[in-house]
Amino acid sequence: MTQPRFARFAIALPLYRVFEYSLDSEDPAPVGTRYRLPFTSGTRTGVLLGASDASDFDPARIRQVVERIDEQAVLDGHMLELSRWMADYYLQPPGEVVFQCLPGYLRGARPHHSTRVKCWKLKLPDPGAIEGLRLRSPRQYEICIALQRHRRGLTALQLRQINPKWHPVVRALEARDMLFWEWVEGGIGHLPAVDLPELSAGQSALLAEMEPRLGSFAVHLIDGITGSGKTEIYLRLIRDRFAAGQQVIYLVPEIGLTNQLIERVRLRFGDCFAISHSGLTELQRYRAWDRFRRGEVGIMLGTRSSLFSQCDNLGLIIIDEEHDHSYRQEDGIRYHARDVAIKRAQMLDIPIVLGSATPSLESINNCARETYHRYRLDHRPTRFAPPRLELVDIRNSQVEFGCGTRVFARIERHLACAGQVLVYLNRRGYAPVVMCHECGWQALCRHCDMRLTLHQSAHSLLCHHCGFSQVVPESCPECCNGEVRHYGIGTEQLEQGLVQRYPDTPVLRIDRDVAGSRAALGERLRQLESGEPCILIGTQMIAKGHDYPAITLSVILDADQALFSSSYRASERLAQTLFQVSGRAGRGDRAGEAVVQTRFPEHPLMQALLRKSYRDIAQELLQERRSFGFPPYARVVMFRADAIELKEALEKLDEIRELLAVTRRFEELTCVGPMPALMTRRIGRYRAQLCLISQDYQVLRSVLSQSMPAIEQLASTSRTSWAIDVDAYDL
Ligand SMILES: [Zn+2]
Ligand SMILES: [Zn+2]
Repeated sequence: MTQPRFARFAIALPLYRVFEYSLDSEDPAPVGTRYRLPFTSGTRTGVLLGASDASDFDPARIRQVVERIDEQAVLDGHMLELSRWMADYYLQPPGEVVFQCLPGYLRGARPHHSTRVKCWKLKLPDPGAIEGLRLRSPRQYEICIALQRHRRGLTALQLRQINPKWHPVVRALEARDMLFWEWVEGGIGHLPAVDLPELSAGQSALLAEMEPRLGSFAVHLIDGITGSGKTEIYLRLIRDRFAAGQQVIYLVPEIGLTNQLIERVRLRFGDCFAISHSGLTELQRYRAWDRFRRGEVGIMLGTRSSLFSQCDNLGLIIIDEEHDHSYRQEDGIRYHARDVAIKRAQMLDIPIVLGSATPSLESINNCARETYHRYRLDHRPTRFAPPRLELVDIRNSQVEFGCGTRVFARIERHLACAGQVLVYLNRRGYAPVVMCHECGWQALCRHCDMRLTLHQSAHSLLCHHCGFSQVVPESCPECCNGEVRHYGIGTEQLEQGLVQRYPDTPVLRIDRDVAGSRAALGERLRQLESGEPCILIGTQMIAKGHDYPAITLSVILDADQALFSSSYRASERLAQTLFQVSGRAGRGDRAGEAVVQTRFPEHPLMQALLRKSYRDIAQELLQERRSFGFPPYARVVMFRADAIELKEALEKLDEIRELLAVTRRFEELTCVGPMPALMTRRIGRYRAQLCLISQDYQVLRSVLSQSMPAIEQLASTSRTSWAIDVDAYDL
């Protein structure tokens, strides 16, 4: 008779607990394996966390698992340990965190089949026979030599690296009975060493300084101006990891312009990398995850969640544009991919390299505290330094579709010199405000506290937060006799205006409305690559991560709104955006210029942007943060609630506040709220927040560890739900 064993499972539910079921002891599954589990009336997928012979619960009431889904574990021990750390640090429900670490494709009960790969091996290692091929058949000789070096064999993918027309050559060798193939599972080794171009003196010096520190865990920040060649350093580091038989995770922000980077990586490493980003299907992302897991590819190049790729021999994590906001996940499990990546590197005792031209204040502060190593790249390998920002005052200027006359003059001068021009306007659509001239009615979202944006090509008014759309009314829906007018400029209107003004120049718009179409985006990028004069209009998608040497002018329209934002991060973000956008210009053999159009040229931040480097501005902003007691000099934990009525959301947070207030040390921290969130109504629900701030993280941790057991019992319902946000990004 088999003895029941008891096993703990993670289930993706917003509950602060794991679930216990009984197992057949005949079934010695490793932790990280998925099971189908009976749950209320149906079934759920769970991930096995551990098993034991005894249970604290009444054995008679513990239900038996339905069936095992996987042959092998889908999460390895290290990923389970990382998910435990995340659940503990971010105070998130442990089951949801475990499922966050899985590719979306495997979060249900879909089977995971370890893919088998054909692998060719050398049959008889007779050096004479191979040598005999050297002159008679150089192509066959080449492949034999490669196989001699790779005794574990080479896959079709790897053979293609050696010879794109490898197949007939391998067939011929099979006919000579010199090769055979077999199915192989799991890792299959790496590519031969790759040749990379010469580095500049600055790049070489940086690598020489970093290399001795790469043997174990350390955080390295490459603080290099735009266009200084950070990517070339990453590629060099990757090649060296390959040579040591290790794999690399390479994270980039969620942007549409990674094509250039993908091409660059392909040029150097052939097909030895997998790509994962939100534009791919779940199946595509799962395949990328599996290829990396099996060791078929050496690089996982992807956005935030690619951090959760697993493999046996991770040797390095790279986070490019580490300051970028898209590394922070704000829905579901709240975490910062940079911070989790640093923890992961520490657990594995491997190095992690962060890079940015405009590092986050957090990272700069960590360098000052000497927890990170900081390296500077102050020169571009090309002839020209990044342009200095110039302010264009438009207070007394004539303005047409958002551009003043001086901006037009500048654009025309650059086009006449065969330059490409980039115009940055971070607002998609045609116009952000639609209202009635008679009664003052405004087009507002039915579900959010947001204005609707006019999208003229789609003949609709669209909410950028929830996607709600409606047709443009012919007359005012409120007073019926007013005329509906629009105000303000979006990229769609700017495009239309520039096309009319410059009919002979291609005008390319890149924003989320265009990026959905791969074909349209590809065509625009080819135009940019051609180097012919053109105007590129775009939102934050064009602010970073690309390198088009023909761009000689960057124009930033409407930076002013950030000057009066209530967010304490607004100044940091504005400085980062302006330095990134201006840094797109002058990367080739012509000097670049960058102009910022403003109605507030005397504003202290505008003056600082004009005169100072990003590093100096960052130092001043850090001083400001210190004096106000804001992060990184304080830690913030935010409780958020949302409900059908605002009152209910506030009440839920009142309950939480009461549980916090009875803890020891509560008096030592600052507690603000409950109060309505900045955008109170979003997607049909009212939102409120309760904010805890302390300069001493131990105080926060102590208050939370005393109160969380009780807070966790407060169930979220469909009427009122709550969540906790550790290291909240915005207040
Ligand atoms: Zn009206
Ligand atoms: Zn909305």
